[in-house]
Amino acid sequence: MAADRRIVIENCAIATVDANDTEYTSGHVVVTGNRIESLGAGPAPEGLENVARRIDASGHLVTPGLINTHHHFYQWITRGLATDHNLFDWLVALYPVWARIDEPMVRAAAQGSLAMMARGGVTTAMDHHYVFPRGSGDLSGAIISAARDMGVRFTLARGSMDRGEKDGGLPPDFAVETLEDALAATEDTVRQHHDSTFDAMTQVAVAPCSPFSVSTELMRDGAQLARRLGVRLHTHGSETVEEEKFCHELFGMGPTDYFESTGWLGEDVWMAHCVHMNDSDIAAFARTRTGVAHCPSSNARLAAGIARVPDLLAAGVPVGLGVDGTASNESGELHTELRNALLINRLGAHKERALNARQALRLGTYGGAQVLGRAAETGSLEPGKLADLVLWRMDTLAHASIADPVTALVFGAAAPVTASFVNGRQIVEDGRLLTVDEDAIARSTRDEAQRLARIAAQA
Ligand SMILES: [Zn+2]
Repeated sequence: MAADRRIVIENCAIATVDANDTEYTSGHVVVTGNRIESLGAGPAPEGLENVARRIDASGHLVTPGLINTHHHFYQWITRGLATDHNLFDWLVALYPVWARIDEPMVRAAAQGSLAMMARGGVTTAMDHHYVFPRGSGDLSGAIISAARDMGVRFTLARGSMDRGEKDGGLPPDFAVETLEDALAATEDTVRQHHDSTFDAMTQVAVAPCSPFSVSTELMRDGAQLARRLGVRLHTHGSETVEEEKFCHELFGMGPTDYFESTGWLGEDVWMAHCVHMNDSDIAAFARTRTGVAHCPSSNARLAAGIARVPDLLAAGVPVGLGVDGTASNESGELHTELRNALLINRLGAHKERALNARQALRLGTYGGAQVLGRAAETGSLEPGKLADLVLWRMDTLAHASIADPVTALVFGAAAPVTASFVNGRQIVEDGRLLTVDEDAIARSTRDEAQRLARIAAQA
């Protein structure tokens, strides 16, 4: 068997985001096959064999690829609606539209969501998909194949809802599944698609939508199912005051206690939002190593509040970043979340010391890998880890006058992506996707958004 070919990247600033936050002002990275072979200061070692490509990355910052930990791809075709609503009003306005999605719509929306993230430096994506209307086709298969075609590493959080309108929930009854169907379909998806190997490109998590759209049985049985199958657990938690009130009325306790009572705290769990957490909630997350997907833009868009990220980090809670669905964050880019995590947390209790640029970059890389359970494989640049990395161009108008590249990346405008590698394979060049036709995706997402709007208007 021929030796793996090498790619040598040189003359770039490097932020490794390793445990010591090691950085190089001018260094090199050597990629062999799908792994990082070596990196360090100065040029690459001389005499390397099988060098297929040598990249002069002068003027660039190299970082680990960005990792998104919370999203709803299908919402790509319902962006810009219900723009002045809080969470519950927004859900009530949008569920009747979402309940009409079908496989071609979900495929186009997944392509749109993935393309937007990948061209902006995301190398690991996730989709929490929980709307499975009766007869809508193989939605999980469509989403997974879209991620495979794009070439990004991917976790599908197979969602579910079994609390429709007749049971006091918000979604229409035909858009929810029965408890039995939800569990069986989730198990099926795990068995068909989950890969537990080190370089897995596709993983599956068990992900009932939220306490207010799911029965207690589905929460409890879902947790048991995930542990039986050895996969991770994901849901929404403590997003709004209304949700907190709902939990107290229905279950006689707050969201974190409810999660604990149903088996939903643990190092194999990560939860989106976690905005309304008191000190004992944070201590429970820290004690159990439960992870958090912080979604600052979506929380602002829906006026949900500011998550206590500095307190979560100080307590030792693993925290990653999420764009959330693009019906509540129309940008759909993770750079926005790096920047907003830093800025929005400074509006909270900790003021100017809330988060710095390096902590924000860590949330969007290593923190994301932690909450997805993949910190051994990706999330930092270290020898032996997977070659998921981004070359950000820092010598153009937007950033050239900022001396520190990490500050430029986080505080500045979204930096142009000269190249993005996933698993050692280049998927972006000069801001364009190499794996798919971006313009064709733009057209199909517009067509499917219009088709969905027509169907929803006729219903
Ligand atoms: Zn969400």
